[in-house]
Amino acid sequence: MSQSQHHSSKAKICVIGSCSMDLVVTSEKRPGAGETVLGESFKTVPGGKGANQAVAAARLGAEVTMIGRVGDDHLGTTILQNFKDNDVNVDYVEPVTDMESGTAHIILAEGDNSIIVVKAANDHVTPAYVAQAIDVIKASDIVMIQQEIPEQTVTYVSQICADANVPLLLNPAPARHVNETVINNLSYITPNEHEAGVVFEGLTLEEALRQHPNRLFVTEGSKGVRYYDGQQEVVVPTYKVDAVDTTGAGDTFNAAFGVALAEGQSLQDALRFGNRAASLSVTKFGAQGGMPTRQEVEEQL
Ligand code: ATP
Repeated sequence: MSQSQHHSSKAKICVIGSCSMDLVVTSEKRPGAGETVLGESFKTVPGGKGANQAVAAARLGAEVTMIGRVGDDHLGTTILQNFKDNDVNVDYVEPVTDMESGTAHIILAEGDNSIIVVKAANDHVTPAYVAQAIDVIKASDIVMIQQEIPEQTVTYVSQICADANVPLLLNPAPARHVNETVINNLSYITPNEHEAGVVFEGLTLEEALRQHPNRLFVTEGSKGVRYYDGQQEVVVPTYKVDAVDTTGAGDTFNAAFGVALAEGQSLQDALRFGNRAASLSVTKFGAQGGMPTRQEVEEQL
């Protein structure tokens, strides 16, 4: 289906990735080995790069289907409810029997964070599981994927997308090697500076950008986004804001960039839309807490 046919209706986006619960404790002191300390506060916050990008894209007005897995525990129930509250379709978020939901155990202490991630149900986002949703994937205007699920699933999805001519946006986070099949099949790849160094190991940033004109977009935090347009390197600057919490900035950028591309916006407009949404997200606390609505972004553009 051509993108222009969707102009008047919502863009259809499929996000294939992780869902998890962030368990966040604040403490004055970080405990050492064998030590117990009293913390100050505790909260649970839905997260995971896949879930974050799905929620952000839905807030920005897309019709979003999430393909992922939760555990059959109470955290899974809460994660599913959070998707529903944000209008994300969960037909393909199936609980894994006798398995915990993915969790991130975050200690905020002494001005820094320490995090332990337990992938749990997210490791069950296998090619065979994703294959059940092949019709939804093929009917999408864009597919968004990240690296908190098994590598063979990313490879499998890249092949489906290439065969069906559906654009694939890979946010290669967390950083890991991306195989040649995926690199050849994807339409857009959006590492931050650190991830770009890992994915394109052995190349300078300039060489990597030149090898992937108009498809490699390196996010550079408060500077914006860098890419090569076929003739020169371009940095699309982001907006000046009072940043209070940059958690989830990358997820918001990816979602907004993906939504704009799915709507058929030009590359320049899509990058501006991504920067605008991401810059708004850093003005509020929390990953999903800061993700703006469509109206909030348009008021600022
Ligand atoms: P995170 O892991 O914190 O989610 P990231 O490292 O994946 O982020 P960044 O490159 O830090 O990604 O940021 C992504 C985008 O968010 C930037 O390209 C920019 O548009 C926006 N952004 C991030 N930090 C700021 C900031 N301080 N002011 C304005 N925009 C910002």
